[in-house]
Amino acid sequence: MGTPIVIVGAGLSGLSAALELEAAGESCLILESQSHVGGKLETSLVEDAYRLDRGFQVLLPAYPELQKFRNLETELNLKKFNSGARLETEAGSMLLANPLEHPKHLLTTALGSYGTLKDKLLVLKLQAEVRSTDINLLLSSARGTTKQFLADYGFSEKIIEGFWRPFFAGIFLESNLETAAGFFKYLTRIFASSRVAVPARGIQELPLWMARQLTKSEIRLSTRVRSTSQFSVELEDGSKIPAQSVISETAMAGQGGPTKFGAVTSFWFSAPEPPFDGAWLSLNSRPSKKSGSLNHVAVLSNVSRDYALKGDALICASLVGPTPTSSDAVKLQAEQLYGKTAQTWRLLREDRIPDAFPLYLGRTDPDTPSQQGSMLRGRLAAREILSRR
Ligand SMILES: Cc1cc2nc3c(=O)[nH]c(=O)nc-3n(C[C@H](O)[C@H](O)[C@H](O)COP(=O)(O)OP(=O)(O)OC[C@H]3O[C@@H](n4cnc5c(N)ncnc54)[C@H](O)[C@@H]3O)c2cc1C
Repeated sequence: MGTPIVIVGAGLSGLSAALELEAAGESCLILESQSHVGGKLETSLVEDAYRLDRGFQVLLPAYPELQKFRNLETELNLKKFNSGARLETEAGSMLLANPLEHPKHLLTTALGSYGTLKDKLLVLKLQAEVRSTDINLLLSSARGTTKQFLADYGFSEKIIEGFWRPFFAGIFLESNLETAAGFFKYLTRIFASSRVAVPARGIQELPLWMARQLTKSEIRLSTRVRSTSQFSVELEDGSKIPAQSVISETAMAGQGGPTKFGAVTSFWFSAPEPPFDGAWLSLNSRPSKKSGSLNHVAVLSNVSRDYALKGDALICASLVGPTPTSSDAVKLQAEQLYGKTAQTWRLLREDRIPDAFPLYLGRTDPDTPSQQGSMLRGRLAAREILSRR
């Protein structure tokens, strides 16, 4: 390799930039401070039995940047969640299932007491509306916050609190639904277009697979960059690497700059039995939730057997925000939702992630805090370099 194009970071954005450059015939040197590729997408094998992602994270195959990959589904052996959610309400658990994907749950979904008849019709109306809008226009198709949008759209307090809030709090990583309404509409379109998935062997399979597609570039792990200039980077040991161009975190950092970060705390448990059957995301739909409340629970072993190799259950219970809540307190909350089975849960790991990503507040630009936003940012940074040739 002659003087390389240097990319700082082998997260989704750096890998996406490298793939774009290779497609144009270039080769790159990717410098990554950690000992693995993938950045925020990380999976560890624990006790030789459980695949633990760092925090609960899923793939949305309908993201335009993921759609660019042919054979994503087969290459990553994607395993899909059911479309909709299981709502753990005070009146018991109920399903809000997408009738197009799960016609056998049509009646239960239609009759569920999680919302009014009007709410259910509005869900269908909203889905039809976002599906018929050009996806590139959705981010700027609404002003104000998600909370305001939902109220103005006519949804009742009941469905906002019992479904929309816990569902989107788990995605936005803020519970007040202050996130820009355009992002809510964009994601609603993405959810309506394909089922949420995980690679069978963990979320890190995506960046690992992207890295394997780089045939002309080098990825140097455990190499921290201290500073960058236009034509060189300086490593922590003081050595300098000359570069044709540099794509750095700052070059890819987008506009506006983050002010507030979303935080999440995820507890990973193993258990002899899953708390429920089926590849559902389970939401805590009980009212008057304080900070420190369980927000959503996923049983990864119900989605992909490879997440728990011994055949027992792997459960990820998440709370939005930084919280001192202990695993024992989480188990007590889980007992209220799922009964005594939660007493058998054994803690494997706690992931406390205070700065998961910048909140998307009052914005409409395409640099969303998501896998889509990161891959797009990386690709555009590469295109910028190519356009200067
Ligand atoms: C818990 C959690 C859940 C999430 N869930 C979802 C989800 O369900 N759906 C979704 O779309 N998005 C989700 N996201 C967001 C998504 O993971 C991120 O947007 C995306 O992975 C960020 O990729 P990136 O490449 O921009 O940054 P990063 O993943 O942070 O990668 C940056 C890389 O650069 C390296 N680096 C930084 N500085 C240096 C340096 N000086 N020298 C060398 N290397 C350096 C870092 O080590 C890192 O590997 C989630 C994020 C978290 C944390």
